[in-house]
Amino acid sequence: MRANPADDTDMQIPTARWQQLLSSAISDPAELIRLLELPVELVESARRAAEQFPLRVPMPFIERMRKGDLQDPLLKQVLPLDAELQPVPGFVTDPLAEMQNNPHDGLIHKYRGRVLLITTSACAINCRYCFRRHFPYQENRLGPDQWQRILDYIAADDSIHEVLFSGGDPLAAPDGRIARMLNELAAIAHLRRVRFHSRLPVVIPQRITDQLIAALTGTRLKPILVLHANHANEIDAVLSEALQPLRQARVPVLNQAVLLKGVNDSVEALKTLSETLFDAGVLPYYLFVLDPVAGSAHFDVSDDQARKLFDQLQRQLPGYLVPKLAREIPGEPSKTLLI
Ligand code: SF4
Repeated sequence: MRANPADDTDMQIPTARWQQLLSSAISDPAELIRLLELPVELVESARRAAEQFPLRVPMPFIERMRKGDLQDPLLKQVLPLDAELQPVPGFVTDPLAEMQNNPHDGLIHKYRGRVLLITTSACAINCRYCFRRHFPYQENRLGPDQWQRILDYIAADDSIHEVLFSGGDPLAAPDGRIARMLNELAAIAHLRRVRFHSRLPVVIPQRITDQLIAALTGTRLKPILVLHANHANEIDAVLSEALQPLRQARVPVLNQAVLLKGVNDSVEALKTLSETLFDAGVLPYYLFVLDPVAGSAHFDVSDDQARKLFDQLQRQLPGYLVPKLAREIPGEPSKTLLI
């Protein structure tokens, strides 16, 4: 029987270093609080919030946080808080109405010319602001039948030129599975590009392996990697070094960030993020305002404030370091620029 290239269940025994780091990610709030020498009184509320959306954070990311500092911008992205449990009007479970653009399980087709694959439900890290924190992954598994239906759907629509690998985090899938999926997609003549949206190399830089680069560059399809980093402290020397082979393999690497209150909502933080990304060979691409997902309202930055920050950023940086300030509005034919 043919192996299913998209099967979520074909996870390998974790032997690669990145897989070991992935499987040993911290999921107990008490453990995170102990490692970072934070007040033990936080444990109870963190556990309550984690019941709705679990804590998950790998050690290489924790090692970039400051001990004893509740204001650490990396910690704020992962620490479950009571505030997540307060309902806020306008903050909903499917803020982008993705389920209205879901022609097949595992496939979202919102914009002309490109489709998005829910490659896997797995993530290396659970970001508290995630717009898919309530996504029905169980209903969107890529079993053999679903994968074949997706291939047929793409093959039947020659306006589709690009496939986005999303998730979850698509790079949580093993390299062999990624290679097999790319090979099958490459057989569809009208496809030109594949784009991977991933936070995994940011939180576990060891994810950039020779095998991954071979998979990404092993077909005629042009690969693009879009990282998700929100603060300059996420980009350390280990990540910069890990990204080098991608540049050598001529894989364009871009970054998209989310504007998050308490994390990067200052001109200095955004400026340093752009400059640090560029030093690591990564081009700033998008700065998104928060999608109003239930449980994330405490990260919200108003549009007015976002525009003021962006205006300052434009005055202080060369154009190629200024990401596009945008939001996604359900039903619109593209992202909506705020400026
Ligand atoms: S890595 Fe991406 S998909 Fe996963 S929780 Fe974070 S924002 Fe959401």
